[in-house]
Amino acid sequence: MSAPSYNITASFRRPMPTIPTASSFPTDPAALLQTPPGLLDDLDPLAEYRAEFHLPRAEDGSPLLYFVGNSLGLQPRSARALVEEEMDAWARLGVEGHFKKEHPWMSYHEALSEQMAAVVGGLPDEVVIMNSLTVNLHLMLVSFFRPTASRFKIVMEAQAFPSDRYAVVSQLEHHGLDPAEALVMLPPRPGEVTLRTEDIVAYLDREGASVAVVLLGGVNYYTGQAFDLQKITEAAHAKGCIAGFDCAHAAGNLALQLHDWDVDFAVWCTYKYLNAGPGALAGCFIHQRHARRSDLPRFAGWWGHDKATRFLMPDTFTPISSAEGWQLSNPPILSLAPLRASLALFAAAGMPALRNKSKHLTGYLSALIEDRAGEAVEILTPSEPDQRGAQLSLRVRRDARRVFEHLSKEGVLCDWREPDAIRVAPAPLYNYFTEVYRFVEILQAAL
Ligand SMILES: *Cc1c(COP(=O)(O)O)cnc(C)c1O
Repeated sequence: MSAPSYNITASFRRPMPTIPTASSFPTDPAALLQTPPGLLDDLDPLAEYRAEFHLPRAEDGSPLLYFVGNSLGLQPRSARALVEEEMDAWARLGVEGHFKKEHPWMSYHEALSEQMAAVVGGLPDEVVIMNSLTVNLHLMLVSFFRPTASRFKIVMEAQAFPSDRYAVVSQLEHHGLDPAEALVMLPPRPGEVTLRTEDIVAYLDREGASVAVVLLGGVNYYTGQAFDLQKITEAAHAKGCIAGFDCAHAAGNLALQLHDWDVDFAVWCTYKYLNAGPGALAGCFIHQRHARRSDLPRFAGWWGHDKATRFLMPDTFTPISSAEGWQLSNPPILSLAPLRASLALFAAAGMPALRNKSKHLTGYLSALIEDRAGEAVEILTPSEPDQRGAQLSLRVRRDARRVFEHLSKEGVLCDWREPDAIRVAPAPLYNYFTEVYRFVEILQAAL
């Protein structure tokens, strides 16, 4: 494997006499903190993937510390050629591009859906790439939110992403329901920041009979809390509720097992951890036991129609008996091309290895902050590695805005949330341990 070539690495690479020349990752926090970050990069089997990405730079050419892969993932270097390939095909072939030999547009999304299924732990016929996230959320609610007089509530987490909330409120109103009654936003306990799984389960045990759909973020965008999707799905099903998840911050971040966990549906975007570019197409998971049903109500379009008869243009809609049956339109190929570049990297690295590195990388960030920032910073994200993904949300107790501005000035790209929170997400595909180390140095200086 080639050595990481990022130039800030060099300064941390000096061997020190006390270094354990470990061949495996130090897990004990004290040992971890004593290990030079350059050595951690050397021990990282995924370090070479960084070279596959374009890294944003400051105006003077110096590389920025990019910790906003939870917002917009970086561009894979191979993406441009794949987009140009389709531009060329369009120029050369016109409409015949739909049937060209390599990657015909007719079936362009199919191989991608299959690779995407591997990323989220779905079967190939359970996953489809289509539309954008909020659109897919609406389509799923059309099929799975079927309120009755006694079962009509949708349960979300407090601090759910606003778009999800808007979508849900509009669905409730569309069904003539009053959100004040039908929308339940589960809050954390007083004095706590994140929800306890036991409280979600207890709520469903108590009130589940009136709940139609449980809709949580796989990872909450604000706190970075990863929910126990398996336990929550189990508790929802025990009371006859549908379990759906917005995995915008979970796909490509956690080792999801949507099929095995028996999740009913999930939606996510591909421009965050999945690096498919601004506004890229979204993913949608529909469990096989639903995906093959033709009786589920849905909003239909010709691209969801049975492929054998689609071009006979029949009057009656017959859905494809897989997640593809929810497609509306033929997909924008130019926007799918970068996803092909990105998913090839995910397939090569493998989600288990990425998740493993991510736990180390974020664990390192957390340990350094606790060691160096002490009381000045409160980590809002749960400390248990299984209850978080890559992201840490930091509450800065004093002069938070000034600290954030200092970070920006020093070339750190991270994210500000009013009134006092900074979100930092080291992405295991392209961030180095040395960058995490450097970030905490800058943070410490700012404090
Ligand atoms: C990023 C994100 C969105 C964005 O929705 P789009 O339809 O892709 O614009 C929605 N919900 C959540 C939870 C997100 O994290």
